[in-house]
Amino acid sequence: MNNNKKKRILTGDRPTGSLHLGHYVGSLANRVKLQDEYDSYIIIADVQALTTHWEKDENLSRDVFQIATDYLAAGIKPEISTIFIQSMIPEIHELTMYYSMFTTVNVLRHNPTIKTEAAQHGLSDMPYGFLGYPVSQAADITIFKADLVPVGEDQIPHIELSRKIVRRFNELYEPVLVEPQVLVGDVPRLIGLDGKDKMSKSLNNAIFLADSADEVKQKVWDAVTDPARIRKTDLGHPEVCTVYAYHQVFNKAEIEEVEADCRQGRIGCVQCKKKLTAKLNELLEPMRERRQSYLEQPELVKDILQEGTRRAHAVAKETMLDVRSAMKINYFG
Ligand code: ATP
Ligand code: MG
Repeated sequence: MNNNKKKRILTGDRPTGSLHLGHYVGSLANRVKLQDEYDSYIIIADVQALTTHWEKDENLSRDVFQIATDYLAAGIKPEISTIFIQSMIPEIHELTMYYSMFTTVNVLRHNPTIKTEAAQHGLSDMPYGFLGYPVSQAADITIFKADLVPVGEDQIPHIELSRKIVRRFNELYEPVLVEPQVLVGDVPRLIGLDGKDKMSKSLNNAIFLADSADEVKQKVWDAVTDPARIRKTDLGHPEVCTVYAYHQVFNKAEIEEVEADCRQGRIGCVQCKKKLTAKLNELLEPMRERRQSYLEQPELVKDILQEGTRRAHAVAKETMLDVRSAMKINYFG
């Protein structure tokens, strides 16, 4: 039972690298904003990371700490938000197993995000764990009886599946689970620096929250712009320009001016990139300061993760009592 009167949030990320601006606008900004209002659980999904990164486990531990530091730098407050590690909560894996009894292979194979990601990762013959990760994600969410899941657009089919699983479970056994709602961020899908795919840790097209001011400057400098613009006076087409796409997100106040200046050839790409760099660094600077203070206290980050995992484990155990009792597999009472 949720003793805390606040509604619950569950969301998280795979520790496959550092967090980037796509994570921030897609989900992390909402987590920071809502953490006072909701009882928030943030999962570092290390088991889910293994679904595509099973052979790279030497990076996993580094990435777990990296991502935890990214959360804290972005403004997640460990006193009120619970950051925890998925593999350390065995009940999640138990619940995944129960859900996989009534979730069919065809439903998973037709999931559009699974299809896109399988192609991205070159998985023609999908590992069982990869095909089934949305089931495991349903367990992540529902074991916390989460009401709300702040995520990027690619996650919508997965939350839809979680809702179906809850309805099915509640109907088959007893109504002990909560149907989660999805909350997509201001920018459901931030484009990557390549101008093609979504910004992603695995695709080498990201501006990371941990990038220095110089790294941000260099990445913006190298970003793909309108190929038709050679000279400053050439008329621009902002709709094909990655730099403009980022102005739309990170420089809303000046967006009309940026667009008109580009279309009429009044501003060169260099100046336009400088403006964007300044805006991005304005957003990232406070994060850099907080990051620095956590980097100076590595033991503190470890303590935060241990304490968060302990808190999350207690909640998961409680839900599993309800689940086992509903399924009549609590043989000894
Ligand atoms: P990977 O390439 O390892 O899958 P990723 O960059 O796709 O990494 P995830 O850990 O899969 O990141 O996603 C974590 C969360 O961030 C999800 O809610 C996802 O929707 C959101 N997210 C990731 N990339 C973007 C993006 N470019 N725009 C908006 N939201 C995003
Ligand atoms: Mg992903």
